[in-house]
Amino acid sequence: MRTTYLVGNWKMHYAPADTRTFLARFLSRIGTVTAGREIVFCPPALSLESALEAVKSTPVSVGAQNVHHKESGAYTGEISAPMLQSMGVKYGIVGHSERRQYFGESDVLVNQKAVALLNCDITPIICVGETLEQREAGEAQVIVRQQVEAAVAGMDITRLIIAYEPVWAIGTGKTATPADAQEVHDVIRDTLRSLGDSQRVPILYGGSVKPENIDSLMAQPDIDGALVGGASLEVESFLRICQYN
Ligand code: PGA
Repeated sequence: MRTTYLVGNWKMHYAPADTRTFLARFLSRIGTVTAGREIVFCPPALSLESALEAVKSTPVSVGAQNVHHKESGAYTGEISAPMLQSMGVKYGIVGHSERRQYFGESDVLVNQKAVALLNCDITPIICVGETLEQREAGEAQVIVRQQVEAAVAGMDITRLIIAYEPVWAIGTGKTATPADAQEVHDVIRDTLRSLGDSQRVPILYGGSVKPENIDSLMAQPDIDGALVGGASLEVESFLRICQYN
């Protein structure tokens, strides 16, 4: 049995004070977390310390949204994996489509960032996913296969989490149907098969996950959790997602 991950990606929302308020409310309501489930919040870098403080001695973990691939140096504005490790950050999102699209991150860079995290014992959550154009051209599976192969090159795949996030479903309210998502998750697992024990790799779905669709997504055999943007910004919505049936 694979662990299930419910990951909130807050993107550029919630400064430290808002982070403390949100987590205090969330933690007062969550109660016991079902065995085999891991809840992770990924706040902006500025709020990591507040989040880590808030979740101390609780079953909830904290992840970063991004990392620089070098250990240190003259990289103004950047944060390294050793810095995240020293704070106690457990997870790091890499290759989110917003980083690929707005910050020009390539598959090679995504791979370097994931390696940097692993070198610091931080679990990379590697995002992949096709655009609407690519889906309509029938290329979704080929693109996702290529992204996965490039991102995981040279790594021990059993230390990774993959998140399938079709770009057209992010923040749009359009979710892939559970069957469509399952199909791509199956392709991802198949891609990983030649690289190691792919059955151990958690593959999350992301893209307009909400309380209304979490149960049917989680019912799919190869969907091992969710990477949640918008709905992770509301306590009630994210609680319901974490308590999926
Ligand atoms: P969304 O974002 O849930 O708001 O669609 C998901 C993501 O970008 O990780």
